[in-house]
Formats: sequence, C-alpha cells, structure tokens
Amino acid sequence: MTEKDKIKRIKIEATSKLNQIMADYFYELDSAAKTDEQKVAWCTSVGPAEILRAMGFLVFFPENHGAMLGASRMATDMLPIADAQGYSPEICSYLRADIGAYLNKTTPLSKSYKGIAGVPKPDVLVFNTNQCRDVQDWFSWYAKKFDVPVIGVHTPRGLGKVTQNHIRSIAKQLEDLINPLEYISGKKFAIDELKQVVALSRECSILWEKVLNTARNVPAPFTFFDGTIHMAPAVVMRGTPRANDYYKLLLEELEERIANNIAAVNDERHRIYWDGMPIWGRLRDHSELFSDLGANVLASTYCNSWIFSAFDPDDPFNSMARAYTELFIVRSDDYKETYIKEMLNSFKVDGIIYHDAKCCPNNSNASYGNAATPGTADRCAQFNH
Ligand code: SF4
Repeated sequence: MTEKDKIKRIKIEATSKLNQIMADYFYELDSAAKTDEQKVAWCTSVGPAEILRAMGFLVFFPENHGAMLGASRMATDMLPIADAQGYSPEICSYLRADIGAYLNKTTPLSKSYKGIAGVPKPDVLVFNTNQCRDVQDWFSWYAKKFDVPVIGVHTPRGLGKVTQNHIRSIAKQLEDLINPLEYISGKKFAIDELKQVVALSRECSILWEKVLNTARNVPAPFTFFDGTIHMAPAVVMRGTPRANDYYKLLLEELEERIANNIAAVNDERHRIYWDGMPIWGRLRDHSELFSDLGANVLASTYCNSWIFSAFDPDDPFNSMARAYTELFIVRSDDYKETYIKEMLNSFKVDGIIYHDAKCCPNNSNASYGNAATPGTADRCAQFNH
C-alpha cells in the first residue's frame, strides 16, 4: 500500500444530499426572516426545539453557526472582536466567535449560500442551561440587540440520578414556555402537533444512534470526523421528516459498507475514542493524521450528544424533560466515567483522546472534579474551535 493509498478517504455518497438539505434549511430561514412570513426562533443546541417547531417557528441554532465559524476558520478573526467588548478569552469560543461575527457583520453563511447576507433575525430566543450557563448570557446579549424576548429552561447540572423531581420541575418549565410562545407566534398551541414533532425527533434520534453504532463494526465504516459533519441534521433539523429521510439514506450506505467489508480507514489497526469538542478548523487535518497511522477515531461523546432516547410522543413534556436532562453533559463525573467506560467497551476501543478545551469546561472531561482548567488546557480558540 502506498502512502497515498493510506490516507485515501472514501467519500460518503450521501454527502451531496446533506449539502442540499442544509442549503434548503438555511435558505428557508433566510427567506422567513426577510419576508416575515414565518416566525424564527433561536434555540440552544440541546434546547426545546420540538416545542418551537410545533408552534410553527423555523429554528436557528447559534452554536451551529459558531461551529461553522470554526470550520471555515473565520473564528480566529472574530474572537478578538468579542474580547474587545470585555468577554474573557477563557470562556466559550462559540459565544465569542458568534458575537464577534455579528459585530463584524459577517457570517460563513454568505460564503456557502449565495444571497444570504446575515444570520436570520430572531423573533424569540429560547435556551436550556442543561449544557452550560453561558448560553443564557449569549442569548440575553442578542435579546437586547434585536429587542426580542429571551425565555428558557434552567436545568440543574452535575446530576447523578435523574429523579422524578428533576423531571417535574423541568417539564413544568417547558410547559411555561407555551404562553409566551403563543403570544409571539400568534398561533395556538396544539398538543397533537407537539406529539407529532416529538415522534419525528424520536425517530431522528434512533436513526442517528444507528448511524453512529455502525462504527462498532470492525473495521468501522464511519469516523468521528464524518460524524461531526453528518450530525448536522440531528442538531438543526430534528423534529422534521427531512432529517429522518436523510439518516435513512446515510444508514443504508453505511450498512452496505459493512456488508462489503469497506472500512472508513484503510488498514484499520487502532480504534480511538474522542472525548470533548471537535477542533472544527482542523477536521480534515486530523482525519488524515489518524488515517495515515492506521487509526480510526470512531466514537465520541460529542456526536452522541444528539441521541435523545427518552422522547415519547405519548408523554411529550415529561419525556422531553427526561431526554434533555439525561444527556452526558448534564451529568455527574461518576456517571460520565461509567458512560465512557461502556463506550470504550462497546466500540472495542484501544485508546482515548481527551480534548481538554479551555473555553468549554462543560465539554472537557479530563479533569474530573474541576470546574475549569485555565492555563493547563489547550487553547481551542487557536484552533478555531
Ligand atoms: S457547552 Fe461549551 S461550547 Fe457549548 S455553548 Fe456551552 S460553553 Fe460553549
């Protein structure tokens, strides 16, 4: 095998469909914001998107925009703009890159999608602090800029067992979103519409989990780096048929790879787990670095964050409360340690990489018990994270 063969990566055919549905998604948002024909809600990445869709909002996710700023390597220029406003370089680089881009009136959307000049103006901002408290501050900043309401759910963090009291409290907060959202959308809430969206999100979660689990096969047909790209529909389109149709297509392709013994990394010799955030501006470099060594980084905490096993359309509020609280990022160190051990076993992993990102202690699990590790962690901002 030549050196060139070693780093050869097999293209995932479904990617062209992914590109198309992502373009459709952003153009719809852009058009809605320009024409005012449909209301736009901004939502945190593991926020209550199902309620928003059921109430007729199109949903935009600023964290996805932050990741795009990283992947396009625009973040490096945007971070100092936010820092100059007083944001600490120690905090979330998604937040800082995104706010920097807004102040600089720039967006990677314009580069990828002709005719889109900026992010779609929100009619409301909706957060859940399940992942971190930073999102509340981030969204509150935009609420002032756009002069629109910001509402949200406050989830306790560091949970070992998720109890009925947690679920009751969070489900009640989710229900309390309905009144303001009815007022903003001008649409009456209908429980059957929410049930339908939760059913679609549940199917999306099942399909996405199946996609990720194809990497349990030896050799794995899929990599973590593929996952960071192909997770986009689970993040921004869960609760829509479009996301589910896409994952059926992708799953079929990956199952065909397994049937034909086609590996994502030629000559797979080492199986690696990635914990923490991807380094968006270096995905290709990292993919090639590992595949060149016969190593497949094939499982991660990050991509699994959009598996919401508890969704139940027959009990939408309670099941959403559970699904959005049982997530890895919300849990205690003990829970996380057990979770990672189970992942290492089930994916037959040889080693683990901890990306200890200074700007996100919530997604850095190498320093158990420490809230943050300033000064010792790497500077993910330098990598456009
Ligand atoms: S979880 Fe981390 S990266 Fe994500 S918004 Fe919160 S601080 Fe930023």
